[in-house]
Amino acid sequence: MSTAAIPFVDLWRQHEPIEFELTEAITRVIRSSGFTLGEELEDFEREFAAYCGVAFGVGVSSGTDALRLALAASGVGDGDEVVTVPNTFIATAEAISLCGARPVFADIDEATLTMDPAALEAAITQRTKAVIPVHLYGRPAAMDEIMEIAGRYDLKVVEDACQAHGAMYRGRCTGSLGDAAAFSFYPGKNLGAFGDGGIVVTGDEEIAERIRLLRHHGQAAKNVHVEEGLCARLDALQAAVLAVKLRSLDAWNDARRVAAGLYDESLAGLAVLTPQVDTASRHVYHLYVLRCGARDALRADLTGAGIATGIHYPTPLHLQPAYRRLGYEVGSFPVAERAAAEIVSLPMFPGLRELEIERIADEIGRSIA
Ligand SMILES: *Cc1c(COP(=O)(O)O)cnc(C)c1O
Repeated sequence: MSTAAIPFVDLWRQHEPIEFELTEAITRVIRSSGFTLGEELEDFEREFAAYCGVAFGVGVSSGTDALRLALAASGVGDGDEVVTVPNTFIATAEAISLCGARPVFADIDEATLTMDPAALEAAITQRTKAVIPVHLYGRPAAMDEIMEIAGRYDLKVVEDACQAHGAMYRGRCTGSLGDAAAFSFYPGKNLGAFGDGGIVVTGDEEIAERIRLLRHHGQAAKNVHVEEGLCARLDALQAAVLAVKLRSLDAWNDARRVAAGLYDESLAGLAVLTPQVDTASRHVYHLYVLRCGARDALRADLTGAGIATGIHYPTPLHLQPAYRRLGYEVGSFPVAERAAAEIVSLPMFPGLRELEIERIADEIGRSIA
């Protein structure tokens, strides 16, 4: 059996088969000399919005800016509160603060590790303006329940779909479920650029137009700045690369789902908890995350066997130094805290081989035996 190192992610396995198309797209942009805004960007925005089943897409410089601009364009500002979960990448909460609003956390559901709708409702105050459910690891959050609550309290919903390109919730694409949705094109995401990038998709034309202004210095026409904005556009080069890669997204997500199925099968019966399978949704396994009581020992054994792993995320945001000012403490969100101590992310990417999955499962079996 091979003992070659197994990486956490290998992007080259994904890019090698389409290297020619990628190079061709990059060359086209170089020859056009059009590097910002323009046709490459507009074409990709249209294609990605259509992929999500919504009318508008606005390309921006990162997932963080996508979240921030989606909130700002939804009317979130100084003194508002926005509810999200503590078990997410810090960008989700940063986007709230960058709008002048205050992040408020709500605990997660034990089985899905996504926002617990009851905890959301309990976190709502007079100041709450919006909610950011996170489709964590590629699994859609409980959007029907969340939208129902948001409707009752007149809150905007911005989906954090940064890990969920192509995921489906009860037959509808993530990105089409809230008032607006933010996607990241960080290289390791299910759809990744060759650098940073992001997009907001929305069915709301006003939100889309406002973000178009805000990402480009509030410029409504040449030298007419109707408000102060940002420099936060998606580059033409990234858009051209993403348009090529978008054609493979469904096949790549299928490959992730096959890999997840193999993990599920080969880990069945071991003393680890594999991700809950939800037949009503289409999980796209940005990450394949186990729970294991002896997580740290398991990771050390896997590292020793040349198998890379990760933890997403080891410290819930309410316990990060950056959010001490919010006044939460250990025990504020017990479900998220318990999960953080037990989760481990296994290698997961299109091109991960069946033999590699078998070897990883064998090592896990050996470690926890
Ligand atoms: C990656 C990610 C982001 C931020 O995206 P960037 O493109 O890195 O700014 C936000 N939320 C979640 C859940 C993410 O995984």
